[in-house]
Amino acid sequence: MATKAKDIIMALEKMIEAIEDNRVYLDELDRATGDGEHGSNLCRGFQELKKKLLSLEEMCTGDLLVRTGEVLTSNIGGAAGPLYGIAFVNAGRKVLGKAEITKEDISEMLSSALEGVKKIGKAQIGDKTIVDALEPAVNSFREAVNKGQSLRESLGIAVESAKKGAESTTHLEAKKGRASYLGSRTCGCQDPGATSTYLILKAILESCNKTI
Ligand code: ADP
Ligand code: MG
Repeated sequence: MATKAKDIIMALEKMIEAIEDNRVYLDELDRATGDGEHGSNLCRGFQELKKKLLSLEEMCTGDLLVRTGEVLTSNIGGAAGPLYGIAFVNAGRKVLGKAEITKEDISEMLSSALEGVKKIGKAQIGDKTIVDALEPAVNSFREAVNKGQSLRESLGIAVESAKKGAESTTHLEAKKGRASYLGSRTCGCQDPGATSTYLILKAILESCNKTI
């Protein structure tokens, strides 16, 4: 079944809810390794997006996601703002002009989102960043789609990979961003950005469970 702009709007609504619900938790994680505002930063961006959702409803899938990325970039701030921004912009650019998208499109969108994050942030797996959750999720989503699994099944597998990836950051030493200034003192704390990536992907799965 194809995904339409209205399905993307529903996924964005779930993301907004997830970030609002986890603002304090993400701030707490960021307090251990950073400046304690990752949740508040994301919340500022996603709440701005909430105000603009009505005006996005008439857009096609690609434009809608590009605009979402722009709103997030200008309102999240911190290191995460431009990284989440480029992820949504790149995903949208893959499907400009399309009214409906397939799971194969979504696989390409996720790959392009990851490429953008890695290009801007220069982080690799193991650096204790967003990439530790996003890369395994993107790879397992692609594998599941290639094996012929449904969108919902593939998202389920991707979310499990993101969860494991986020958890795997606990024992790592941060190599990028503000947390890297603390070096080995970051070991023992789960990375806030990898955790928010997992929560965002889980929100997409939840919206998919509701609609399809
Ligand atoms: P800041 O570090 O400016 O306070 P946030 O607290 O909003 O910004 O975001 C911190 C998160 O950003 C980290 O937990 C990490 O996951 C992510 N991050 C930081 N630098 C990078 C990078 N170069 N590549 C990918 N993710 C990064
Ligand atoms: Mg921070």
